[in-house]
Formats: sequence, C-alpha cells, structure tokens
Amino acid sequence: MAAGTSATRTFSVPQERRLVTELPGPRSRALQERRVRAVSRGAGTLANIYMDHGAGAVLVDVDGNQLIDLGCGIGVTTIGHAHPDVAAAVAEQVQKLTHTLFTVTPYENYVRVAEKLAEITPGTHEKHSILVNSGAEAVENAAKIARRFTGRRAIVVLDHAFHGRTNLTMAMTYRPWPEREGMGPFPGEIYSVPISYPFRDGLSGEEAAERTIDVIETHVGPRDVAAFFAEPIQGDGGVIIPAPGYFARIAEYCRDNGIVFVADEIQAGIARTGAWYSIEHHGVVPDLVTSAKGIAGGMPLAAVTGRAEIMDAVQPGGVGGTFGGNPVSTAAALAVFDLIEREDLIGEAQRVERTLVSRIGDWADRFDVVGEVRGKGAMFGIELVQPGTKKPNAAALKHVLTYAAEHGVIALDAGSWDSVLRLLPSVVISDALLDDAASVLEEAFATLPGSADEHEPVPAS
Ligand SMILES: *Cc1c(COP(=O)(O)O)cnc(C)c1O
Repeated sequence: MAAGTSATRTFSVPQERRLVTELPGPRSRALQERRVRAVSRGAGTLANIYMDHGAGAVLVDVDGNQLIDLGCGIGVTTIGHAHPDVAAAVAEQVQKLTHTLFTVTPYENYVRVAEKLAEITPGTHEKHSILVNSGAEAVENAAKIARRFTGRRAIVVLDHAFHGRTNLTMAMTYRPWPEREGMGPFPGEIYSVPISYPFRDGLSGEEAAERTIDVIETHVGPRDVAAFFAEPIQGDGGVIIPAPGYFARIAEYCRDNGIVFVADEIQAGIARTGAWYSIEHHGVVPDLVTSAKGIAGGMPLAAVTGRAEIMDAVQPGGVGGTFGGNPVSTAAALAVFDLIEREDLIGEAQRVERTLVSRIGDWADRFDVVGEVRGKGAMFGIELVQPGTKKPNAAALKHVLTYAAEHGVIALDAGSWDSVLRLLPSVVISDALLDDAASVLEEAFATLPGSADEHEPVPAS
C-alpha cells in the first residue's frame, strides 16, 4: 500500500494505551474543581478527564495518560487528532485571511468546498451548497430551503432521530430528555414517524416503510409535507441501521409526492461508514444532504448540499450567517477531502469494520447483556439489554463506560433509552489499538454487577 496507510503511518504520539496515574488523575481533578465553579452544569461531560493533546486515535490527558479514543468527540476527528495536514492548512490560511464574510466579499475556499461537495455527495445531477457553522444550523437551513422550494409547512422526522439543539432542531429531535425538557415552547408542524429498527421491530425494510408511510398518510397528509429528514444510519439514536429496502421505498414515496428527501449525514457522512455518505449503503440519492462533524478535522464547518433547483429556491440573503464557511474552516475541509482521497480513508473505514466484525461481532453470543452488535465502517453500536430480554439496560452501559474511561478507553453512549454503547473511532486507528480497546470493554462486561466472573470492584458512580 502507498505511504501513509495504516501499515506505514507515523504519529507524534505512540499509538498505545499507557496509564501513569489513576483516571481521572490529579490534574484532571483539579481542573474539574475549577470547572464546576465556572462552567454551566448544562454543558455536561461524559468523562471528566481533561485532554492536552492527541494524534491519530490516541488522546493524552493533562496527567500524561494515553487514552484510546473511540469517540472522536462525537465522530468529528475521523482522520485522527490534530492531523498535521489540517494544522498546516489552518496555519497557512490564518496568516493570509481569516474573515471577509462570503456574502460581502467572497473567496475561493468557499467555492472549492462547494465544488467538492457536489462531487462527493450522491447523484450526478447539478448540485449547489451553502456553508454554515454547525450541524444544527445545517439542518435548520435544509428545513428552510425545503419549505421555500415546496411552499409546504410540515417537516417529517424519524423516531430516535437526533438533529440538534437549536429551537427548531430540538423539536426535530426524538427524545425529551435531556435535549429538550423544560426548554420549549417548540415550533409546530414537526411530525415524528416510526423508523425501521430491525433489532426491535423485526420488520423487513418494505414492511417498515409501509408503516412509516401509513403514519404520514393518516397523521400529516403527504401534500402538506415539505421535507422528510432521515439519518441514513442514526447516530445518537443508537446506531440504528434501517433494514434493506426501507429508504429506497421512502425515497420513492417522497419523489411521488413532491417531498424533499433530506439525508442528515452529519454523523455518518464524510468517509466514516466506509463510503463518502452513509445513504450510499441504501442505494438512494437524496435531494438534500447535510454534512458537518467530520468535514473539517475538528474545525467548525457544516454544509447543505443538494439539487440546484431546490437550493436556489431561496432569495439572495435568505440563508447565510456571519461565520459560515469561514476561510480557515474551509481550508481545513479542503485538507480533509484531500487526505481522504490520497490515503484511501474510505478503505480504512472498511478495514475498521472488518476488524471490529471479527473482534467484537460475536459479543451477543458471549455476553448475555449484549443484544446486538451492528455497524458500518468506523461506526458501531452495541445494544445492551437485560439478560434474556430486549429490555434496555442503561445501568450496564453506565458501568461499561465508567469502567472503560477509568482504564483509558473513551467510548460513547447512545440510544433513546441510554443503552447503546457507541464506537466512533478514527478510521486511522490501528488493529492493535482496536484489539486492546475491545479487551478493556470485555473486562467491563465481565465486571458487571451480578456477572459470573466479577473480579473488580464496581465504580461508585
Ligand atoms: C451532531 C448532529 C447534529 C447537530 O450538529 P451540531 O454541530 O452539534 O449542531 C445534527 N444531526 C446529526 C445526525 C448529528 O449527529
């Protein structure tokens, strides 16, 4: 393989787990004391371990511990932490020009990112883009654009969806706690409809699609629907992968009824699942696509890309924002696109999938709390259940995440019942690191309260 692939890549931090204090260590604990005095409780954290630097799939905390990162924030640093190419692109751009506001006096980086998005998003039709700052902002803009294009009012979203934390996107997000409770009132005309969730509903893609369509027909009315929003692989909802055929039928229904089909690819897009965009696994070409998280190596950037006639329905000045698509974030994105192609990071995501399938694919047989292991590329969910049932097991997830963090592995939670262990490692993570992280997670399962070979004290939290 070419230089820079998994076998030959070099990193400024050795790609290994190495603990030199207990976790969190003394410096993290001191920072935590300052934090509770200065930072809002609303900005909750998963593990109070303060990070100093990182490279590849390893984070180094303020006490010098090296942790395996299976989270990438939440799926952001897909290409690895503090990638030197991104650092160089940012450093160069920040000295040339940091801001003009594209809608006052434009610059080339914005145009280049839009050109690239037209190339990498599914479909060969003419596509236009807008660039904004965050995922939620991209989703809001997609809703605005779809409403302007169709002249319709209703927005349909899927059960278990996560679309963001602004007022509109809170309302588009499935669960009330903790994202929404007490923070209304919310905008109307948002309708949540059943998804295909093979582990729980046992339906084929076609059957689940008919159920979804029936709810639209009987609760909303298709001629009032501006847009159907879907994460092709749900992230926060628990790495739910709808059954084959589900989205093909939904997309056909949208086409027949003049509904804009929006793929929210903010978490699953940009190489993470072993394709540029996760909707490709479903063989569907969406009308609009939202991108964010992994697009700029950790710099804030998001986009809406889609059919030119839809994207151009909005009057000049109807979309935009001061910082959207700023010169530095777009420079970082161009470096990310280049890296993904030059180092075949889509192929690397496929390698991560093969390694994970062979390493953890049998967990449902080996651990009675594991109901299902599912995933694509470097995006996996392990759904935890009460043994012998499909009842969600949030307590087990809490134990596993706490145990893992205390042993130097950062993994994520997910799922409407907080019972899905979510893995979103960098696609450059080595097979050896994946193996070591899997061993820690297996120890966590083995030490669950009531587990047969419990041999470690259970963390108090
Ligand atoms: C994270 C996420 C969002 C919101 O993005 P922010 O940048 O946090 O506003 C929206 N949709 C999906 C699918 C996400 O994963």
